[in-house]
Amino acid sequence: MRIIKEGTPPHKEKKQECVNCGCVFMYERSDIHTDKRDGDFVICPSCGAYINLINHLSMEKKEAI
Ligand SMILES: [Zn+2]
Repeated sequence: MRIIKEGTPPHKEKKQECVNCGCVFMYERSDIHTDKRDGDFVICPSCGAYINLINHLSMEKKEAI
């Protein structure tokens, strides 16, 4: 195969908000960690919290009001 016109592969970044600290960041595939039990998650660059990409409810927020 030969390239006739060079293309630029689009960055498939996704926006994610941290449910722990409220940080909004962009992540891409290389930032995604996969765990057999917990599935796919990214780590918040601000607070280091694990953010599950499939089930956002996995981070239990215990609000004592
Ligand atoms: Zn955070």
